[in-house]
Amino acid sequence: IHATFIPLLDEQKNVTGGVIVLTDITELRKLETVRNDFVANVSHELRTPLTSMVGYLDTLLESNIEDPATRDKFLKIIKEETDRLSVLIKDLLNLSKIESQSFDLKADNLGEVLTKVVNLLEKKAEDKNIDLKIEIAANLPLVYMVREQIKQVMINLIDNAIKYTPAGGKVSINVEAEADKVYISVKDNGIGIPLSDQERIFERFYRVDKARSRALGGTGIGLSIVRNIIKQHGSDIQVKSREGAGSEFSFYLKAAE
Ligand code: ADP
Repeated sequence: IHATFIPLLDEQKNVTGGVIVLTDITELRKLETVRNDFVANVSHELRTPLTSMVGYLDTLLESNIEDPATRDKFLKIIKEETDRLSVLIKDLLNLSKIESQSFDLKADNLGEVLTKVVNLLEKKAEDKNIDLKIEIAANLPLVYMVREQIKQVMINLIDNAIKYTPAGGKVSINVEAEADKVYISVKDNGIGIPLSDQERIFERFYRVDKARSRALGGTGIGLSIVRNIIKQHGSDIQVKSREGAGSEFSFYLKAAE
């Protein structure tokens, strides 16, 4: 609580009373903490690949590595870390853009967006021998959305489903209409998410298993982008998951007819 005292004066400037203004700054403090945590997290995430790059570069420059295979190995690691940094920066810019821009929802065709996304990720699923299925109810109404943003949501969800499902698994996308809403779900039979992590996975940089996510090229930002976009569509994202059994992410969009 923050207190301010404002004295009330009469014509001779004598204090005759006063007003005490109490401001609850809990929310402000919270916001400040969130912002500080964010900056600390970003710095840490940026520094990790940089430290590793500097280490390998120093070794290359200072010691005379004769063996071309070792040199190539070091260069390859540096290249991987550079790629990682650029994905991270791209994700961060994307997130900040979504957080700052206002949304102009339009009645649009969801089926078209989904077909495009599935075409985009089909190869990735195929390469991992994952059965990627999409079921769209007939006569789906138009929905209120920002096409590019919903495309991003679907890419992130399906990409995760493929990433966190072992080879030979199944990913299914289901779309159905009920009353004035269209329900969308992405379900996999992959590694699942422990109950205690299920709320936290939507936080920026939160990953159940950092090493695994990192190895799969993850940054921990994908789901925070998803939640942000879905919230700006007046909805929210839900997760149902069981460790070792699989996960299902779902949300709805408002029908336009
Ligand atoms: P990342 O870049 O690490 O994939 P996300 O924000 O997309 O970041 O997801 C956060 C974390 O949630 C992941 O690191 C992973 O632990 C977990 N996760 C997301 N989707 C799934 C899924 N379909 N199955 C299992 N775990 C998942």
